[in-house]
Amino acid sequence: MRIDLHTHSSASDGTDTPGDLVREAASAGLDVVALTDHDAMSGWAEAREVADEVGITLVPGLEISTRHGHRGVHLLGYLPDPTDPALALELDRILEGRTARTPAIVAALRAHGVDITEDDVRRESGGSVAAGRPHVADALARLGVVRDRTEAFATLLSPGQPGYVNRYASALEDMIPLLVGAGGVAVLAHPWGRGSRSVLSAEALAGLKDLGLAGIEVDHQDHSAADRAELRGIAADLDLVVTGSSDHHGLGKVDHDLGVNTTDPEQYDRLLSLARNPLDG
Ligand SMILES: [Zn+2]
Ligand SMILES: [Zn+2]
Repeated sequence: MRIDLHTHSSASDGTDTPGDLVREAASAGLDVVALTDHDAMSGWAEAREVADEVGITLVPGLEISTRHGHRGVHLLGYLPDPTDPALALELDRILEGRTARTPAIVAALRAHGVDITEDDVRRESGGSVAAGRPHVADALARLGVVRDRTEAFATLLSPGQPGYVNRYASALEDMIPLLVGAGGVAVLAHPWGRGSRSVLSAEALAGLKDLGLAGIEVDHQDHSAADRAELRGIAADLDLVVTGSSDHHGLGKVDHDLGVNTTDPEQYDRLLSLARNPLDG
């Protein structure tokens, strides 16, 4: 059984529609795929419909932008109740922050001498409710300012760079209980990727477990073999679920093909057993 628990569609910053993503997951030989768009659950309905059609199991989820010790940390939530009022309210705040941020980034880039407009960004984000930095990055690439998304993030859009603008993110310590309160299962995405190792030590992970954290994504392209081995040890010590995923973004991210990392079926069963809502509810 092949299980990939972290993918993005055009409901956030992936390039495939939710339906196409699920179709591709089935052709890639996956038995289970989780759709985990950034701060958005809007792709679930379409993904579910296609999953039924092609005979693959869809796990509805999302990847929430949180803050922990001055760093951005991504939290995966599986099977939360999408109608939970507290969760919906907090996601609205995150999305509002993101919406207000894009014009601010465009203004900052223009002040830096880059000839980019909000229309250029809108053209890249299409119907996404979560237009954000990846779409600015795509616009910069299309305008020839940079080669690709990676270069845009490496030179213009990250903290300390000319096009970086801070935005609202929930505190991780608040979001974990909120997600659990909505019946979901909380798993830290790529805990040691992108510099977040400094704020997510074994000790910090133990504290997050006390708040309701269920698992950590160990097998992710941002983690070296040594990171993975160490994280696996921490997960065993803390009795956390271990997941593995592609973090697929369609054409939006290289080296993240569907199924490039997978989750062990036993770990997947444990994760499902922790959700309040059944998989097909
Ligand atoms: Zn992430
Ligand atoms: Zn992701």
